[in-house]
Amino acid sequence: LLTLAIESSCDDTSVAILEKEKNATKIHFLENVTADTREYGGIHPIVALESHHESMSKLVNKALHHLPLITGGNSDGGGGQITLAGESQPRRKPDLVAATRGPGMRSNLTIGLETGKALSVAWQVPFVGVHHMQAHLLTPRLVASLEGGDGPTQPKFPFLSILVSGGHSILVRSTSIVGHQIMAESSDIAIGEALDKTAREVLPPSLLENAKNTMYGKMLEQFAFPNGAADYTDYRPPRTRGEEFIKKETPWGWALGTPFANTRTLEFSFASVASRAKSLIVAKTKAGVDVSLEERRALARESMRVAFEHLASRTIIALETLRQDASSDKINTLVVSGGVAANRFLMTVLRGFLDVRGFDHVRLVAPPPRLCTDNAAMIGWAGIEMFEAGWHTDLGTQPVRKWALDAQADDGGILGV
Ligand code: ATP
Ligand code: FE
Repeated sequence: LLTLAIESSCDDTSVAILEKEKNATKIHFLENVTADTREYGGIHPIVALESHHESMSKLVNKALHHLPLITGGNSDGGGGQITLAGESQPRRKPDLVAATRGPGMRSNLTIGLETGKALSVAWQVPFVGVHHMQAHLLTPRLVASLEGGDGPTQPKFPFLSILVSGGHSILVRSTSIVGHQIMAESSDIAIGEALDKTAREVLPPSLLENAKNTMYGKMLEQFAFPNGAADYTDYRPPRTRGEEFIKKETPWGWALGTPFANTRTLEFSFASVASRAKSLIVAKTKAGVDVSLEERRALARESMRVAFEHLASRTIIALETLRQDASSDKINTLVVSGGVAANRFLMTVLRGFLDVRGFDHVRLVAPPPRLCTDNAAMIGWAGIEMFEAGWHTDLGTQPVRKWALDAQADDGGILGV
């Protein structure tokens, strides 16, 4: 199944060409253009929209030049062919078009959605409007397929996913491609937003000024751990829930607390991580004290540690809850996806918690960084999985700004075949 996929829900314009064969998938093309919103310190809706206008058709045009050529030994697979301007050799026509339908900013989504619908009409092939968060959580299944199979490495339902990005922090139990139960969400800001805010306070100003993009979370990780994993070989997860309470004093006299350490609530909260970092830096700056590089680094590390331990602590509670539920199948896989899943320290913290809290049998899987952040390949894969399961989307479909992951199956815009 040759698929052209489009993502435009936020500040990335992304187009991909995927080809799924029986057991394996190839990405023929994947390119993202991220709106340059550095001067705004975050995502600026209008700048992002202008960037989609600027890039969408150009990226689609570029993608078409990566469709497989039809040569002597390579037929069109029955799907028809197209010949691009200036080329004499025809290329295979896509069999399916997928585009993000929501959640996200309506105007931004519209650009990708209408481009996708129009291409599907022009090519007379089916269209699937994809749920962006569903695509994030299915990405590890794409990764397994890219690696050559839907065998033992492919996460099988049911599995538990941690979706951690700039706009979301959710813990989801998935029983099928459209069966998703949200087990925990953030009561305030998303973890990615908290880490971005922390980075803007904690990173040395010189580093921020020279930043090439707004992937602050990544910069925070690189600043905190310049030697990568070698910098946290001595990390030990709290062995009990009681230990989550214990604050770690630093040589500078401050200590950060893990959110909700005293409750078993299945809920996240990350606002305090960002505000604590800010108040510490602001207080020192006001007092005319120079914050040393070492102290900044310690604050970056500790902010990430408490945020990740909070995430891990709630995940363990969810796993314990599911273990007690006789009607729930055994969970053997924990998927981590979304931009923050690119963080290697997060993986260490999660692995550590699983191992010391009785879930060492649970496999932890996360896509490579370029598939963790927003990208059209994951949209293509989710579209393919939906299509193969018998779904397609009506051409009259509209973008959805807020779209609950668990409302997917009975949404009117998606039709069974
Ligand atoms: P959503 O998918 O919820 O709409 P989004 O589009 O902002 O949000 P992604 O592109 O999936 O999300 O992720 C971006 C977020 O991931 C940003 O907050 C960014 O700082 C964070 N991020 C990226 N790399 C890392 C990293 N190595 N460590 C921590 N955070 C990271
Ligand atoms: Fe995303």
